[in-house]
Amino acid sequence: MTDITPVLARADENLPSSLDKLFELLRIKSISTDPAFKGECRKGAEWLTDYLGTLGFDASVRDTPGHPMVVAHHAGASADAPHLLFYGHYDVQPVDPIELWENDPFEPAIKDVGNGRKILTGRGTADDKGQLMTFVEACRAYKDVVGSLPCRITILFEGEEESGSPSLKPFLEANADELRADYALVCDTSMWDRDTPAVASALRGLVGEEIVVSAADRDLHSGLFGGAAANPIHILTSILAGLHDETGRITLDGFYDGVEETPENVKASWETLGTTAESFLGEVGLSIPSGEKGRSVLELTWARPTAEINGIWGGYTGEGFKTVIAAKASAKVSFRLVGTQDPAAIRESFRAYVRSNIPGDCSVEFHPHGGSPAIHLAYDSPALTKAKTALSDEWPKPAVVIGMGGSIPIVGDFQKMLGMESLLVGFGLSDDRIHSPNEKYELTSYHKGIRSWIRILEALAK
Ligand SMILES: [Zn+2]
Repeated sequence: MTDITPVLARADENLPSSLDKLFELLRIKSISTDPAFKGECRKGAEWLTDYLGTLGFDASVRDTPGHPMVVAHHAGASADAPHLLFYGHYDVQPVDPIELWENDPFEPAIKDVGNGRKILTGRGTADDKGQLMTFVEACRAYKDVVGSLPCRITILFEGEEESGSPSLKPFLEANADELRADYALVCDTSMWDRDTPAVASALRGLVGEEIVVSAADRDLHSGLFGGAAANPIHILTSILAGLHDETGRITLDGFYDGVEETPENVKASWETLGTTAESFLGEVGLSIPSGEKGRSVLELTWARPTAEINGIWGGYTGEGFKTVIAAKASAKVSFRLVGTQDPAAIRESFRAYVRSNIPGDCSVEFHPHGGSPAIHLAYDSPALTKAKTALSDEWPKPAVVIGMGGSIPIVGDFQKMLGMESLLVGFGLSDDRIHSPNEKYELTSYHKGIRSWIRILEALAK
């Protein structure tokens, strides 16, 4: 066990040069989506490789059909400590509309915004160069003081995250043995607020299904056939309406298999965040929570599964009026999954329910649209607990373990292809304007982010 006080002090002393190094990286115009910047993307990968080399990493630029990857390895001081894979991306979004930037997006600056707050401005400050450099600079401080790193570390930086990561899966597949570690660290996420760090522990899964209900063999006149012939829109809407009961629970057989109740202490920590139905829904002009009764909006979006109708069509929807009974009616339905819900089982249960409600002379077709399980780190996972404690030691308020209602594809790929759980820790803020003009990163996020990783590495090494 290392006393990290001198390492933290070193990170403080290093801050001016840590900023210089970040600014060098920020000046490289690594816009991955625009072929005009192909050379700049390579320059970004080369810069990182060279820099990691100076920190004792065995680092290389690895070619792909698209922009290169950077892979770097560093042996840890102890064989007992876990092997960690740190992931980030060095590519950035385009900068237009350029006239809305107050500063040159590729000439980073430190700006005093009053009340003792300073921000770093420029494209990539928050997404993701500033974030990934928090980790690199934590490694530098360690190496400066201790001469080694507390854990064995592999770094993977990609250059295509902002353009759909086309080379990532093939690269993970081809280099699985080299990249597989005990845990992945993913830094592309945010804090809860300025004072409260967050570790994301759950991402919901997804099942999508399109259904087409067919009745008569042609569109019918509702005066001639209405009352006698089946109307597929009625059938479809009644089936969809039956997906939820009056308490908001989903009625499919076995739907809640694998869904666990959120532990009371986790719910209690969410309570302290002060998010109410009014504050959460107020942003979109609503105020009354839908879905399961008696659960908070954070629980509903982070820890509970859903069934949503995403689209529905059939019959006549044009100008004027047409008294038609349609031959077909269709809908797109999706389910967000949590815990260990099985996407295939949910799809089958949904299909069985639909089929059992189709009249004998009508038919239904199904078209699947993707399926992925939820990803979650157990709330009592040792790595999660260590990271949480380490973050709480650094920031004014204790760290919260949050869920994420959507998904981050890389985390699913790490789980599926490398069998690795991911710890999601980042220091962005919701007002960082990522992907927009005037992107910024708080100086505090950078400085305390570096210090946070020092603490997390030390905690995970134990
Ligand atoms: Zn982005």
